[in-house]
Formats: sequence, structure tokens, C-alpha cells
Amino acid sequence: MVAVFVYLCASKVSVVFITVLTVHTVKLYLKIMCAALSGFRRFLHWGPITALSIIKCITLTTLYMNSMWWPPNESFAAFAHQALFLLLSTLATYNYIMATVTGPGLLPKQWQPKDPKDTEFLQFCKECEGYKAPRSHHCRKCNRCVKKMDHHCPWINHCVGWANHAYFTYFLLFSILGSIQGSVVLSCSFYRGIYRYYYLTHGLAHLASVQFTVGSIIMCILGMGLAIGVVIGLSMLLYIQLKTIVSNQTGIEIWIVEKALYRRYRSQTEEPYVYPYDLGWRSNLRQVFNDECQTRGDGIEWPVVEGCNQYSLTCEQLAQKEEKRARTRTYKCIANVSGRWLPIFSQGWRVCVSAPCTDEPRIRLQPGDIIRVTRFRRHWLFGEREVSDTLQKRKSPRRGPIRGWFPRRCVVGLSEVPDSADSSEDSPKGKAAPAAFAAIAGNSNGNGHSHLKQQQRNGHSKKYM
Ligand SMILES: [Zn+2]
Ligand SMILES: [Zn+2]
Repeated sequence: MVAVFVYLCASKVSVVFITVLTVHTVKLYLKIMCAALSGFRRFLHWGPITALSIIKCITLTTLYMNSMWWPPNESFAAFAHQALFLLLSTLATYNYIMATVTGPGLLPKQWQPKDPKDTEFLQFCKECEGYKAPRSHHCRKCNRCVKKMDHHCPWINHCVGWANHAYFTYFLLFSILGSIQGSVVLSCSFYRGIYRYYYLTHGLAHLASVQFTVGSIIMCILGMGLAIGVVIGLSMLLYIQLKTIVSNQTGIEIWIVEKALYRRYRSQTEEPYVYPYDLGWRSNLRQVFNDECQTRGDGIEWPVVEGCNQYSLTCEQLAQKEEKRARTRTYKCIANVSGRWLPIFSQGWRVCVSAPCTDEPRIRLQPGDIIRVTRFRRHWLFGEREVSDTLQKRKSPRRGPIRGWFPRRCVVGLSEVPDSADSSEDSPKGKAAPAAFAAIAGNSNGNGHSHLKQQQRNGHSKKYM
């Protein structure tokens, strides 16, 4: 009896064990599949499809032309030449795929600093419902806060940031080198192919190795154009990226520093601005390029220069936001705005002629909409349409962006001074930014004013009520 009982128990335990194991295995496989699918989805976009098509077009055309111009079986040099081209092409493709799949490193949703007191030095992201870590920015395309965001690149259909900066830079470098080699091969092949008849009739038959068909001559010209275009376009981009890495200042941070310098120049009262992350070009390079091909650290805490702290830059951002709020004006829409780039029929030629020369979005408006305007032109304004609450946003979503340019004649001013300071993403901090800035600027150990802290607490309690 005892033996039967033990056997039954053992069999039951083993059944439970196997079931749990199976469920966990299935869950694990599902997770892996989801990750693979989400990575694969990144490539289903015009950017990666075009970029990979260009890489493959240049590679295949160069290999085909090279097989006639300088066949790899002709000599060791010819073999090494083709092997080098294949290596560069493979490395460019590998780094491209890794830059896309790895991504920039996304800040977790609802992220908070370890010490809750530090939230007073950080901006709040309404979309991610969390604080923005130092050097993180919200990307509207990815709809997430991105660690050390440099820019959103449509060619990789992802942002370039903390985790994929090295892959992206290597991709640019190897693409340029491969394309230089490709353009030399294609140009020489084109020359030999065009003069084939001349070589044959002048006793130079050994040079008449390239023979064109209609298809191959079209492919050669196309490949040549693409290769030269890649060299010119990506060289400029690589120069910008290297400048960014050497100075440890992303495209967004360059803009923040420019505004910081201008603020001090205008006020002529504050101390000169010190950018906290420039540790010298060697250390800056090491932060991006290292063995793991990934920027060091966790993308949240960064080494800073002496006299600065983790929140030196974020406090400057808060101060700039506060200034932006101060110049914000509230407008009410009185006529429909189509959101077109050149609304010649609805707004007339004068508005179209003075349209802002920028690729920033144009917004649609309906009579009654409230808009917080931060930039002003004679015929155009730039602002954010107020969305009353998330419930309404879900019930009657309106197509198109909520922030952008629109014709000035369709709105009327409501107030000279904004009645609330809730127009920006860092709403929980309210009007505490200058105080926060002063606290950091004056005292780098991060001790803020008690008044400021009280304001922050009030803001937070409102937010989480
Ligand atoms: Zn965000
Ligand atoms: Zn992005």
C-alpha cells in the first residue's frame, strides 16, 4: 500500500513538474519569438528596406563588374581586393542590422530615480508617465524616452542613442569605405566597357574584358551613382557623428548648450556655463567605442567633469523650459485650419509665401481649440493644441500632430500671460525650475531650497492623486 501511495505521489509530482516545465518553456519560446518578431518588424519600413536595397545593389553590381574587370582568380592581389570588398560589405550590413535590432536603449516606462528627492531636478514625460533620466529625451516617432538620444534615424527606423551609437558609427564608416572601393571598381569597369570596341580594334584585346549588355550597363550606372551618393551623404553624417562623439555632445545637447550660452549672454549675471559630460576626447571616444561595442554604464548615470553633478544639464533644461513657459501665449482658434503646408486656397498667397522653412509639422485646428504658442512669426505661429484630458483624447482622437505651425490669422490671443504652467512635458515641476537651477548652479552637491522642495511635493501629490 505504502509503495503504491509513494508511486502515486511521485507520479503526481512528476506530472506537475513536467506541466510547469512545459508552461515555462512555452512562455520562454513565446518571449523569444515576440522579441524576434518585434526586431523583424523594425525592418518592415521604407527606411530599412531602402537602405538594405542600396547596400545589396552596390554589392552585387560591384561583384558582377569586378568579375570581368579584375577577376579574383587572376592573382592573389585580385583575390585580396575582392575579399576586402566582401569584408567591408559584410561589416556594413552587420553593423546596420545590429544598430537597428539593438536600438538606442529605451528608458523603462514610469522610470523614477533611486532617490525620490532627485525628481525635482528632472523633467517629467507625460507620454511615458515617468521622469526623464539625464541625457534622455522622448522620441515622438518611437513614442518612448530614449537614453542619450542623438536623433531619430528613419534609415534604421529607430533612434540613435546610448546602446547603438557605436554600431551606427561603424556602419557609416564601413559603408563609406565599401562604397569608395565599389565606385572605383564600377567607374573603371564602365570605362573599360565603353571603350571595348576601341581596345579590340587597336590590338589591346587583353583590356577588353568588360562586356556590357543593356541590363548590365544600366546596373553599372545605377550602382556607380548610388556608391558615389553614399560616399558623399554618409561622409557628412560620419563627420557629424564623430564630432558628436569626440565632444560627447549629442545633436540635442548641442542645441541645449547653445541656448544655455545665449541665456547667460543675455542676462550677463550668471556664471559661465560648463557642459558636464565633456571629459576630454580620449575618454569621450572610450565611452562609445569599446570591446562590447556598447556605451559604458547603464545609460542613466554618466561621469561628469569637476564642479558639475548628475543633474547639471537637467537643471539647465528645466530653467530653459521655464523661460519658454514665460513667453508662452494662449490663443483660441476661430477658423478651421487644414494642416496643409501651403494653404493657398484657404489662407491666400501672403501666408503661403511666408511659410516657415522647416520640416516641423503643421497642425489641424478647429474653431474653439486652445493653443499654447511658443514661437511667433508675422503670419505663422508655433504651438501645442491643448487636449483637455486623456479620456477625450481616446474618445475622439483627431488625426495629425498636436504641436506644430499654423496660420496666425485663424486664431485670436486670449491672454498676455499664460494662466497655467502645464503646457510642457515637465508639468509636475511647475514653476520651480529657476529655483531648481539656482540650487544646482549655486551648490553642486544638489541641496535644493526648502521652498522649492515644497513646491515639488505639491506638484507630485497632485500628479499621483
Ligand atoms: Zn517619454
Ligand atoms: Zn526614435
